[in-house]
Amino acid sequence: MVKLKIDNHEVEVPAGTSVLDAARSVQIEIPTLCNHPDVDPSAGCGMCIVRINGRIIRSCCTPVSEGMEVITTDAELFETRRMVLKLILSNHPSSCLSCARSGACELQEMANTFNITDAPLPNLTKRYDIDDSTKAVVLDNSKCILCGRCVEVCQNQQNIWALSYLHRGLATRITPANGINLADSPCIKCGQCSAHCPTGAIVEYDDTAKVWEMLRNPDLYTIVQIAPAVRVAIGEEFGFEFGANLTGKTYAALRRMGFDKVFDTNFGADLTIIEEATEFVRRFTKEPESLPMFTSCCPAWVDMLEKFNSDMIPNFSTCKSPHEMVGAMAKTYFADKAGIDPAKIRVVSVMPCTAKKWEISRSEDMKSSGYQDVDVSITTRELAKMIKQAGIDFRNIKEEQADSPLGEYSGAATIFGTTGGVMTAALRTAYFYITGKELAQPEFKDIEGLEGVKETKVTINGAEVRIAVAHGVGNVEKILNRIREAKANGEELPYHFVEVMACRGGCVAGGGQPRVIGGEYAKPYGITDHIRQLRANGLFTEDEKATNRVSHHNKSIQSLYDEYIGKPGGEKAHHLLHTHYTPRNMYK
Ligand code: SF4
Ligand code: SF4
Ligand code: SF4
Repeated sequence: MVKLKIDNHEVEVPAGTSVLDAARSVQIEIPTLCNHPDVDPSAGCGMCIVRINGRIIRSCCTPVSEGMEVITTDAELFETRRMVLKLILSNHPSSCLSCARSGACELQEMANTFNITDAPLPNLTKRYDIDDSTKAVVLDNSKCILCGRCVEVCQNQQNIWALSYLHRGLATRITPANGINLADSPCIKCGQCSAHCPTGAIVEYDDTAKVWEMLRNPDLYTIVQIAPAVRVAIGEEFGFEFGANLTGKTYAALRRMGFDKVFDTNFGADLTIIEEATEFVRRFTKEPESLPMFTSCCPAWVDMLEKFNSDMIPNFSTCKSPHEMVGAMAKTYFADKAGIDPAKIRVVSVMPCTAKKWEISRSEDMKSSGYQDVDVSITTRELAKMIKQAGIDFRNIKEEQADSPLGEYSGAATIFGTTGGVMTAALRTAYFYITGKELAQPEFKDIEGLEGVKETKVTINGAEVRIAVAHGVGNVEKILNRIREAKANGEELPYHFVEVMACRGGCVAGGGQPRVIGGEYAKPYGITDHIRQLRANGLFTEDEKATNRVSHHNKSIQSLYDEYIGKPGGEKAHHLLHTHYTPRNMYK
């Protein structure tokens, strides 16, 4: 431990702590635009300067030392920070009024805090072509302040390396190598760059106008569904505490917006579990050569598989993701039941995710009825914007229920939104399918939490099932390499069943979730592990309180199989609810 003084407060922190983090331990927030707990410090923005023994130094990259005396603010530091901000703003468009980040922009917030009220220096902003080639994330280099967070996250957290710096000095910009488009790059559309960007330089592709157009067309029958993770994050856009579960209010708002039916992706999560557990049990008991099996509900992971790990395609679950299953059922089963022409149905999914925008047209398999299963996928942020556009008082709106028959769900479905949740839900049902009994202990604490790779073992009928869970897609490499090594050496497989979610923490921290800045836990940089955990807690609590905690006892799902699909894993199920993968090897 090291003892030092920060603004005359005695501080004691472990050796190696940065001055910036040491100050936070005594509730002193040194301003920064590039530092973020998810990435290594880069000393990029120059805002975090402090005075140490008379010298001005960047605090994010300066480790504490015994007896150090730190001043975090004085007149010179204040004016120097203002000058840094003025220089950043001299190379930034004054387009706050029309920027998607307005109101939740760290640069805007900082400019207000430091009283930058006029146009301070001549504006030299360079204009770049906007890269919206993925139709999932949009990169506008004109708004980039070169903080480097996106590069760090894409390279080091995700291990994708789609983003890097191009050129040097004033010409520097953020782009895939060689300045190619994101769509032609290794990008898997996870949106984690956008979740960490402090400005409006990387945002989701905006599909809100498309949704309004559908809602205003009287000839269309509009159906909406919300993903598990949406319900525990949307409240942040309306001043609710982190992790508040606002399912009923969200249903009510969607109905007021004009949707004809409000269904729930959680129904699709239960359906996914029925199909996925059936598939796993088949592989585990009859086709051990097809193990391990990987979950397939994360489209960024699917993109990564097809582009970089196509040797693992035989190990991928063929199940479509939950929102695709709801879309498929809406345009077949529900359309038949309600007597509606599927050509007139439009399905909108509200997701925590940017990659889902890509997934909806990933392959011809996504057209179970002959029409696209999901027509438009919007993020939680886009839905919040639409609720505001519609003038709906979200805070005070009365809770409502989802519509039948694609609205009922179990506790197992709701935890799909967090790392470890899909595996937990699948194990509950796989155990039941193999033994005919319910698990005595339905939770698997070893695979909860934010460790990058988590493992557990479950004994089912005397057989050991080895499980791994990875989140933050950079962590999956370790698992893949262990599996490849074991296969090459003819050794016992390290895992039978593997869950992967591309975003750290899972979908609760997806690239389309609210970016709240400021506030008790989000100060000053939006998503943190604390917020990931609070949102996950919101889902785990709903599961704990649920009267039914297993997918196989969802009554609407049982009726769906009885009336329409037949057997789980059967021919019709495969036609409607499963998919194929196509190798698109980028580096081979
Ligand atoms: S969306 Fe994901 S993979 Fe693509 S550039 Fe951003 S962080 Fe990298
Ligand atoms: S795009 Fe955003 S996160 Fe990336 S360097 Fe620019 S400002 Fe920082
Ligand atoms: S973890 Fe969830 S939010 Fe993130 S890319 Fe995958 S599906 Fe989307």
